[in-house]
Amino acid sequence: MNHTKNNDSVTELSVLVQSDKLQLLYHQSFPAIFVSMFNAALLTAILWPVQDHDVLLGWLGFLFVTAIARLLLFIRYRKAAPQAQDVLTWEKPYFITLTLSSLTWGVGCLLIMPLDSFVHQAVIFYFLIGMSGGAISVYSAHRMMTLVTVAAVLLPATIYFLISGEFLFVGMAVGAVIFFISTIRATKVLGFAMHQNFLMTHQLEISNENAERLARIDELTGLFNRRAFYEHGKVLSNNCQRNKDELAMILMDIDNFKMINDKYGHAAGDTVLREIGKILLQRLRKSDVFARIGGEEFGMLLPLTTVNKAMQLAEELRQVIEATTITFEEKKFAVTASFGVTSDVSDIDTLVRQADMAMYRSKESGRNAVMQGQ
Ligand code: GH3
Ligand code: MG
Ligand code: MG
Repeated sequence: MNHTKNNDSVTELSVLVQSDKLQLLYHQSFPAIFVSMFNAALLTAILWPVQDHDVLLGWLGFLFVTAIARLLLFIRYRKAAPQAQDVLTWEKPYFITLTLSSLTWGVGCLLIMPLDSFVHQAVIFYFLIGMSGGAISVYSAHRMMTLVTVAAVLLPATIYFLISGEFLFVGMAVGAVIFFISTIRATKVLGFAMHQNFLMTHQLEISNENAERLARIDELTGLFNRRAFYEHGKVLSNNCQRNKDELAMILMDIDNFKMINDKYGHAAGDTVLREIGKILLQRLRKSDVFARIGGEEFGMLLPLTTVNKAMQLAEELRQVIEATTITFEEKKFAVTASFGVTSDVSDIDTLVRQADMAMYRSKESGRNAVMQGQ
């Protein structure tokens, strides 16, 4: 059961990490569309005197179409502003348009290669190496995307040069192969570092959320603790004040609890606290704020409740607790509790103080009682 849960959260984390990478990819690669177009225009200008103009314009036009496709994709992505795992649906179109544009560079450059000018061929190769270098930084958030891009841009010309038999070109191609091998390694290291970074960010967020939640929960009963009672209570009393709604409070303290601990043991006392907590919880509404605010003291805030209604509820609770038999390790016993009830339109501190004074009057009256305070 636990194992499955862990697996689920691991899958969930890896989906989040994958989404982070894609989000970063979209974020960091937008300018690359314009850089690609600028480079293509520059290369076209350089090749203009030595290559057929239709071929050059055809290539530039095709690249322009892929750039527009990518631009539209980016605009749609920004408009949709997907979050968390929804980002993942944007991976495929990104991959397809990027591969198309990379192939237009890689394969296209073979087509625009002026066969009679070694210098211009070298210039084209120089551009391809430059584009590949840029791709490593621009697409680094997604290793697969980087490798496919660099391969699509660089490998067609590299293979062409390798098989050309020209010593100079084979030398350049070998340089490109070494560059490609280092890219494979570099993207591995970079990708791992980025993955760990995203993973740790999410793990930290999850631990923070857990710590925040645990800091407000009483471990023994699973109820809110004193801190949560005051936090939720402040919000509730502010709302009630603003809307001029009634807000009542019941404070309850178990009678002679020290004696129960002494007689039946601390573990028995713990069982009493858990059982009483459950009994009270069952009889409260979802909108009430209920907490264990001290050792054997429970606080209840009841919005939209008159003091008379709260007195009735406290009396019911007193009777239920008195009638409940607690069983601990085959020993059976009963407990009682004393209640203080109040209602006030002012702040939470005043409510607690008034309820506390009323509760003490219940104790003074002989315990197992309900008193109203002002
Ligand atoms: P009174 O009727 O006047 O309230 O008497 P009491 O004995 O209930 O009150 P007192 O304040 O003298 O004692 C409270 C006891 O509650 C003392 C403390 O050891 C015990 N206590 C506080 N927290 C826990 C707990 O988490 N578990 C257990 N078992 N006992 C606890
Ligand atoms: Mg007590
Ligand atoms: Mg007490």
